[in-house]
Amino acid sequence: MKNIYLFSEGNGLGKLILGGKGANLVEMKRIGLPIPNGMVVTTTACKNYFESKNSLSREMIEEIDVAIEKLQKETKKSFEGENSLLVSVRSGAPVSMPGMMDTILNLGLNDIAVQRLIQKTKNEKFVYEIYLRFIEMFSEIVKGIPREKFVKVKKFSNGKSEKEIVEIFKNIYWIETGEFFPENPKEQIKMAIESIFNSWNNERAKIYRQLQGIDESMGTAVVIQEMVFGNYNELSGTGVAFTRNPSTGENLLFGEYLLEAQGEDIVAGIRTPNSIQSMRNQLPKIYDEFSEIGKLLENHYGDMQDIEFTIENGKLFILQTRSGKRSPNAAVKIAVDMVKEGVITKDKAIMMIDTELLPQVFNGTFEESDLAGKKLLGKGLPGSAGVAVGKVALSTDMVKEGESVILVRVETSPEDIKGMSLAKGIVTVKGGATSHGAVVARGMGKCCVTGCESIKIDCSEKFFHINGEKIYEGDIISINGYNGEIYKGEVKLKKGEISEELKELLEWCKEFKKLEIRMNADTPSDVLVGREFGAEGIGLCRTEHMFFEDEKIWSVREMIIANTKEEREKALEKLLKLQKIDFKNMLHKMDGMPMNIRLLDPPFHEFLPKNEKDINKLAQQLKKTSLEIGTRIKELKEENPMLGHRGCRLAITFPEIYEMQARAIIESAIECGYEGSSCEIEIMIPFIGGISEFKYIKEGILKEIEKVFKEKQKTISYKLGTMMELPRACLIANEIAEESAFFSFGTNDLTQTTYGISRDDSIKFIDHYKAKNIMKRDPFQSIDTRGVGKLIELAKELGQSVKPDIKIGVCGEHGGDPKSIEYFNELGFSYVSCSPFRVPIAIVAAAQSAIQKRMG
Ligand code: PEP
Ligand code: MG
Repeated sequence: MKNIYLFSEGNGLGKLILGGKGANLVEMKRIGLPIPNGMVVTTTACKNYFESKNSLSREMIEEIDVAIEKLQKETKKSFEGENSLLVSVRSGAPVSMPGMMDTILNLGLNDIAVQRLIQKTKNEKFVYEIYLRFIEMFSEIVKGIPREKFVKVKKFSNGKSEKEIVEIFKNIYWIETGEFFPENPKEQIKMAIESIFNSWNNERAKIYRQLQGIDESMGTAVVIQEMVFGNYNELSGTGVAFTRNPSTGENLLFGEYLLEAQGEDIVAGIRTPNSIQSMRNQLPKIYDEFSEIGKLLENHYGDMQDIEFTIENGKLFILQTRSGKRSPNAAVKIAVDMVKEGVITKDKAIMMIDTELLPQVFNGTFEESDLAGKKLLGKGLPGSAGVAVGKVALSTDMVKEGESVILVRVETSPEDIKGMSLAKGIVTVKGGATSHGAVVARGMGKCCVTGCESIKIDCSEKFFHINGEKIYEGDIISINGYNGEIYKGEVKLKKGEISEELKELLEWCKEFKKLEIRMNADTPSDVLVGREFGAEGIGLCRTEHMFFEDEKIWSVREMIIANTKEEREKALEKLLKLQKIDFKNMLHKMDGMPMNIRLLDPPFHEFLPKNEKDINKLAQQLKKTSLEIGTRIKELKEENPMLGHRGCRLAITFPEIYEMQARAIIESAIECGYEGSSCEIEIMIPFIGGISEFKYIKEGILKEIEKVFKEKQKTISYKLGTMMELPRACLIANEIAEESAFFSFGTNDLTQTTYGISRDDSIKFIDHYKAKNIMKRDPFQSIDTRGVGKLIELAKELGQSVKPDIKIGVCGEHGGDPKSIEYFNELGFSYVSCSPFRVPIAIVAAAQSAIQKRMG
């Protein structure tokens, strides 16, 4: 295989060989666009260079010479002759790598070529300008000589001729390198190629590749292209433009250009460029030609393009085209518009959406331009997507309705629900991605930063310290739930919305996706949000969350604190009424859609009163002394509540609790008019670890439901099943499947118990694991397919071996994570369930994985 291809020779070789830039230039040449001639030194040549201990082999050098000969013929120009050939040399990896070396312009110039060019152009100023620029760029990029050395000379060279400055420049090169500046154009080109190859291994590039997961062995190509000059005369210029507006997606050229300038002048910001729209009046013909080319390239590549161009003496040249970077809003609009314009198909449009960035479309973002100069106070974890600005409140009592407040807590507990629902955003010092704060905030669609351990709240609860700053209650902070950043003061917000385009895109996704997308909904308002976003059912209704609100928590406390069966039954009677109101409300809003209700799973520490005031209140309510209540709380205190008396274990000790809940569910459904087999109610038992445990609880629930049927003289269909959230349950999934109508993987607890890492404490060390590359991703955010996944797959296999059509879904936080969704789709699950605000992301991710799977 050759090492070098002229643009006219490289058809069909693709990005891996020619690099992104090279492949696009070859393609543009093939479809007849006006691009300057050139050639590509391939990535294979780069690999050969590394294999020959970073030197160009004899054969390579011969190939370069032959290719240069051909290029001279093609351009009808030469390095030695009258009609001088000048070239640019650029790096061009198969994937865009902004951390790598950039461009060297005007190679081929030397003292003789300069004289010939002056004679030809009669423009000495222009020729010296490009000569100086060349020496400066070459010295900096090939030899690493700081550019300031040249800039200084230019600044203090009043009265010196350009020719004299050239000499000074060359002198700098000689002093810095001990070598003469290379006069031979072929030598210049070889040195530039070597330096680009070497830049593949510079520190910046290596770090960038590591961060982006780019294959180290790919190597870079080098593009060598005939120069065209935007600074040639007043009919010349240069610019960069997107074929559509990258911020809004509007279908109108967006970009800028400068007359009498070379490419880097635009980036350097020395002169203010004109908007590309003003070219309509200034250079109408060029504008029309450029627009037409833009449309052609969009159609050709099926995507919005970012195009670099130069106009030389009134003639337009395209120097580069690539898919344009765009805001998440623009991405949705562009994808949908392009389908309507017939440029791309619906599946391509869906694949164009970056699900990681999608939340910004409906949750809003910071105004990027407003971030400059803002003080970054610290960083926690991205707990729940969104951005928020408000006054700091350090307790729920300080969150006042109607005010913009950020609630900052060490960790959140059910008492904070009111404050959380009123606050604009939440920050916690402790806790990871599946901690109470994050789960509840996500459910509310509230921006949340968790695990910001650099915050030290003062015991007076009037201020906190963070990285040397003291922030008082009432001070304004701005928080970013996408990346965990916390800023001092106000950062302007850009509001999000579910645009018409996004709605349309979500509808298209439904045509492709296989997974059902359900929501984790605990309240009627969750249901409304989730349905608006396209949820197809409830995958998890955490009944303990239904008690977080208002006074309901006191009835739960009463039940937990109860010393005797009678006391508990009294508390349960109250709870039955409250539960029925909630269930009926939700059943109405669900309108017959599947609804999975999980029976109580309250880690006690989340519910028990923590302060004196609450203990006294509970004592009063139960007509007991505070001491009695305090003693009972001590008795109930667990060393490790997340592995303690929770979930179904509660129902082994107090079967009446689940029985009450089952009654509440069935009575509510019947009273709501649900009938017979059309009813899709699923009752789910959490934290099952053994089959006898499950059978015992199931028996009690079935008996209670039969009683209800008798009392009501009516029956309805329902399913009774279990969560799979303990490794033991997965290992005996065949036994469990005998008894269970469905499996719903609780991947939060399954991750916690498989790794033996506490959901609430992982924050303290997971970041270190990630930083040291020991873990690639936080397993609480993205499913660990190798370990936790092995249990899931085993459970699925065992379960299906006894019940082939058993319904299998996921209701842990992973149900809203695109990478995990792809995995669950691969496994052929029936549904994933996630917080209502993540439903659109799950819909797109499910469609993408289905399309991907179809493509193989
Ligand atoms: C889980 O463990 O994945 C789950 C959904 O239950 P919870 O988060 O309520 O423990
Ligand atoms: Mg769980």
